[in-house]
Amino acid sequence: MRMKILSTAGLVLLVSPLLAQELPRLLPDDLFRRNIGTEGQMDAQFPPHRIIDNVYYVGTESLASFLITTDDGHILVNTDFERNVPTIKDSVEQLGFSFEDIEIIIGSHEHADHMQGDALAKELSGARVIVMAEQVPGLVEMRPGGKEHPMDAIINDGDTISLGGEILTAHLTPGHSDGCTSWELDVMDAGQSHKVVIICSVGVNPNYQLWNNPDRPGIVEQYRQSYASLRAIDADVPLGSHPTMYAMAEKYPRVGQSPNPYIDPEGYLYEIALNEQAMNLRLEEQRIAAQEQ
Ligand SMILES: [Zn+2]
Repeated sequence: MRMKILSTAGLVLLVSPLLAQELPRLLPDDLFRRNIGTEGQMDAQFPPHRIIDNVYYVGTESLASFLITTDDGHILVNTDFERNVPTIKDSVEQLGFSFEDIEIIIGSHEHADHMQGDALAKELSGARVIVMAEQVPGLVEMRPGGKEHPMDAIINDGDTISLGGEILTAHLTPGHSDGCTSWELDVMDAGQSHKVVIICSVGVNPNYQLWNNPDRPGIVEQYRQSYASLRAIDADVPLGSHPTMYAMAEKYPRVGQSPNPYIDPEGYLYEIALNEQAMNLRLEEQRIAAQEQ
């Protein structure tokens, strides 16, 4: 994707020609609300369906979970809150797969709405839980019902996971959390190869301190490196830890049509740009507020 560099008053913005006109001015709070939805949406089952090739949606209306199937068992991405696990299991079964055939569990990041269900999902499936090294400090604190968080293997940025010929690459894309991980895999659709990226999240939660954060002094740099590493992936099937990150509700009605509605390279860059803009707006707000004190 060709990018053009605009420099305005010392602030350098990378703007894709496709995005230049239509980037609504959304703040971190707007994107956070968009992502998590209502309490009811976190728990409501979304119709399980095939996204593309061997990648299926098994999550709720606002918390995304994906099943990647292979002949040697399956990979589950995101177990969500522990209370969501029975819904995810039901979705897997509605698609005609068995929860016990899940061999590997991985997650987007070490927040409860994405990985709290790991222990229960492991108990029900017998799968191995594979985590990113930087997720470990957060996961050891995540103990639903006192259960220890399972970690059967620990990987690092750039490592791959393979099962039944399927290869997933783990990209550390921190900022939203220290262990935020985006997953890349290749799929086939209508005889053509496509690249899926399950974006961890590049969102700024409303309570995040970006300016002069003593606990996470590198947080802004983390976000900026994550935008760059995501943009370096030539992805054309964006997915994410919350379905609004890739406009699932708008695309779902066209499932089964050609072209596949989930093929959306512009949507991938749009999500990154929208979050980058929100991060910069919040940083500027906090910088000004700090100077006025
Ligand atoms: Zn989160």
